[in-house]
Order: sequence, then structure tokens, then C-alpha cells
Amino acid sequence: MGSGPGGLQISYSLSRLGVRHAVISADESAGGMFRRWPFFQRLLSWTKPYAPFERGTREYERYDWNSLLPIEREHAALMTTIMDGSSYYPSRPEMERNLATFAERTGVAVRFGCRWTATRRDGDRWVLETTDGEFRCQVPVFAVGVSQPWRPQIPGIEDVPHYADTRPAETYAGRRVFIIGKENSGFELATGLLQWAKQIVLASPSPAKLSINTRSLVGVRARYVQPYEDHVLAGGVIVLDASIERIERREGHFHVHTRKADAASDLVFEVDDVIAATGFTSPIQDLPNLGVATVGRNKLPAQTPFWESSTVPGVYFGGTIHQASPGLRKHGIPSNSGGVNGHRYNGRILARHIAAKHFEVSPERPVISRAELVSFLLTEATNAPELWHQKAYLARVIVRDDKRGIVDDGVQPLQHVLDTGGANSVAITLEENAAGEIYPVLYTCRDGATSEHPLPTNALHDFRTSEHEKAVIAAVEGVLL
Ligand SMILES: Cc1cc2nc3c(=O)[nH]c(=O)nc-3n(C[C@H](O)[C@H](O)[C@H](O)COP(=O)(O)OP(=O)(O)OC[C@H]3O[C@@H](n4cnc5c(N)ncnc54)[C@H](O)[C@@H]3O)c2cc1C
Repeated sequence: MGSGPGGLQISYSLSRLGVRHAVISADESAGGMFRRWPFFQRLLSWTKPYAPFERGTREYERYDWNSLLPIEREHAALMTTIMDGSSYYPSRPEMERNLATFAERTGVAVRFGCRWTATRRDGDRWVLETTDGEFRCQVPVFAVGVSQPWRPQIPGIEDVPHYADTRPAETYAGRRVFIIGKENSGFELATGLLQWAKQIVLASPSPAKLSINTRSLVGVRARYVQPYEDHVLAGGVIVLDASIERIERREGHFHVHTRKADAASDLVFEVDDVIAATGFTSPIQDLPNLGVATVGRNKLPAQTPFWESSTVPGVYFGGTIHQASPGLRKHGIPSNSGGVNGHRYNGRILARHIAAKHFEVSPERPVISRAELVSFLLTEATNAPELWHQKAYLARVIVRDDKRGIVDDGVQPLQHVLDTGGANSVAITLEENAAGEIYPVLYTCRDGATSEHPLPTNALHDFRTSEHEKAVIAAVEGVLL
């Protein structure tokens, strides 16, 4: 359900596995959240039309964060065919066109303008009530996005517009603007208002994190760091670590009361506009009443490693909601499931999982010869887009099958692999430590006992060296070989 990238990817993948399904979307056309946002009309996920690998190859996906994933090569890397070359960040309309073109060319059928309104159980079926009548299904997948405005409980915040209601930039000309929130959406607005606003204050209790420091998608992306530089060079922007105590609406302006952790009294800002860039939640309707537990401040559904509700089996989620299935968070780094580059892989894995578990469609599991095993693992570590986009979250899994020999069991959530153990198997991931070194890790499971084998890093991120080969052989001997 949902015609954003999450819903389209899952629908496409299910149809190629031969699973009958229907997609409904409240929107009037494909594109989901990208029909409106980002507010300043340019994405924060890049696509490099020119990269070390040919467009349309699997290896190329590492350089293209925005195209959805088809099987047919002619539908791959669609984003590159739509961008106008002015930036490696596509514009919002280009992204919308990318998604609509994918839906059109791959034949993903969506019933548009159809809003899911309520949910109930009828025997072994789920019934989705919608504005177009009732739909019955065995397995519902809710890919309804995380773009419903969310505000923390601050007195007076209900009187100020959310990011979602920001006015055209020029209407802030010569005004004092107070932005609540120091994550990407707050910094995006501040960046776009630099040439308009008379003064910009960005405030929230915790210090701003920058992606170039966290070495992950946690933190403000480099292209929105300009207001931060303006702040540190004392150019007029104020980036403040303080809690917002209350907001008072006055005649034509606002008083924002803030307090720093160590201060005895409030610091009050008189401003013309306040914008709550305080985040988003998911419109999951009545699912909590049916027992779907939620987590975190923005109350996303709690999920298993296979993106199934932790509390209501058989209810699945898709798209950016997957960010609430955090995986192991090794070295404190979460998944990249908040962006298309991450959740498009989860979507493909989820479709394969649903097809096998609920519709008895067995996924392909090719045999790998003993002679090829080591080079297969190291080539995956060097080039597999799933491993690069979802570090320490998704793993390529190889198992020993008594009848068939060494078998490629596909890409799976690492947490699932480690939780289930069992068969003799090897999983390979890419991981990153606090020093920013990226290196492959092998997880071997032998007679139920799991061990972890970090491999050396490589300055060029090419792990096909004799040093790596020796380390792989030492780790997999007795498990697969
Ligand atoms: C401000 C902002 C900027 C972002 N920028 C980027 C970016 O540059 N790059 C990136 O990769 N990610 C970005 N993201 C994350 C982005 O939202 C996701 O990567 C992507 O859009 C999520 O796809 P989705 O399919 O999960 O959700 P969405 O694209 O939000 O799609 C959800 C779909 O569900 C439908 N729906 C919702 N409720 C109902 C209902 N009751 N009945 C029927 N249909 C319903 C909607 O109509 C919509 O079609 C951004 C997020 C925000 C909030």
C-alpha cells in the first residue's frame, strides 16, 4: 500500500515473484512524498550519471541512490535518464518523474486516489476499508511513508507552522525566523532562507550532528551545512543548544522562551516567524488499536528484522518506515532505511520473504562451486550495492546444503541471520568503525556457534587481495569448505 518508492519497489518485486497483490495510494499519481518535498525542491540523495561502472549494472547502483531496482536491465538506473546535469542531486520534479516512469515502464498497477481508512480481521484475512470500498488480503504491507507532521509537546507550538506549512521563501524577506529543530529539515529551510531572512535562529536541546563527522546519514548533510558555517563565522545565524520552554504569540510576532541546560533563566527571542522542523510520523491509522506497538518519539511501528510488526504477526511495513527496524547499530550507526538507497533493498528482500513464507514461492538459490567461493565473497564485499548502502544491516548469506553443496542464500537482514543461526553458513557484510575505516566482516556459523571475523580494510575499498583471500579461507574452513 502506498505509491511512494517503498510501495512501488515492493509491488514490482512481488509481481516478478508471481505473487498476486494490489496497491492502493491516497495520492493522485505516483511519487509519494516527492510530489511535494523536499521544500526547496532538490533531493539530498545523489545519483552520479558517470561512475566507475556502466549504468544499469548491479555494481552501478552504489553510485545511484535514487533509482528503483528492476530485474530487467532496460528499466535500471532510470534516474540518470531524467536528470538535467545541473546537479548530482536530482530536483524534486525529476525524482517524481523517475518514480512515475518506473511505475509506467514496469507495469506496476496502482489504484490512485484511494485512501485506506480502517482495518479489521475477518477469519484468516485482513480487511482494509478504503474510500473505494473494502479490500481483503492475506498479507497487508503498509508503505504509507513517514511524512505526517510531528510536533513535540511545547506550550504554544500548536500556533506555529510545521515544515510542511512553510511559506514561499520570498515571504520571509527581511524577517526574523526561529526554526525549531536542528536536523536536515531545519537546516534545509535555513539554507534556503539565508538570502531572505534578516535573522535565523536554529534551536533544539541537542547539539547539531554533521554527517561528515558521524560518517553516516545521521546528522545534517554537507549541502545544508552553510547556516552552520555562517553561525561559526558569526555571520548572523544563531545555532543554539537549548530547550524551547514555550512560544507566546504576540501582536504580529512571537516570543520564544529558550533555556540552556546550565542557565538559571530563559533566553527570550522576539521573532516574526517560527517554524517547527520537528520531524514526521507515519499515518498508521487504527493499527495501534489492533495491537501494533510503536517505538521512539515519533511512534513508528516496532518491527522484526524482516519488517513485520513485533506485536501483530502477519502485518508488514514497507519503505521509509523500515527505519524503525534498526538492526544491530554496530558502532552506533543505524541503517540507511530512511532513504530510498537503503529501503529499496529491504523492499526486494521483504517481497522474497513474504513470497516464501506466505505463498510458498521458493526463491532462487544458486550453487557456488568450491573454487569460486572465496572470490565470490570478496567480490561481493567490493561491489555489492546492498552491502555498501546498508552497512552492518544487510548481509550476503552462503549456506552449506547437504544435497546441493555450497548455496547462495541471497541478501538477508544481518540481525535475522545472527538470531537464527542453525545451518553451517557464512554471512558477509561491510562495516565501519569509529575511525571511519570500512572493512568486510564474515560471520560464520558452525554447528550452531557463531563467530565474527573482521577482515582488513583497504584504502581503495578493493578487498580482492591475497591478504583478504587468506583471511576468508581461514574463516570459512570447516564451515563451508
Ligand atoms: C522532508 C523530507 C525530505 C526527504 N528527502 C529525501 C531524499 O532526498 N532522498 C531520499 O532517499 N529520501 C528522502 N526522504 C525520505 C523519504 O521520505 C523516503 O526515502 C521515501 O519517500 C519514502 O518512500 P515511502 O514509499 O516509504 O513513503 P512516501 O514516499 O511518503 O509514500 C507514501 C505513500 O503512501 C500513501 N498513503 C499514505 N497514507 C495512505 C492511506 N491512508 N491510504 C492510502 N495511501 C496512503 C501516500 O499517498 C504515498 O503515496 C525525505 C523525507 C522527508 C520527510
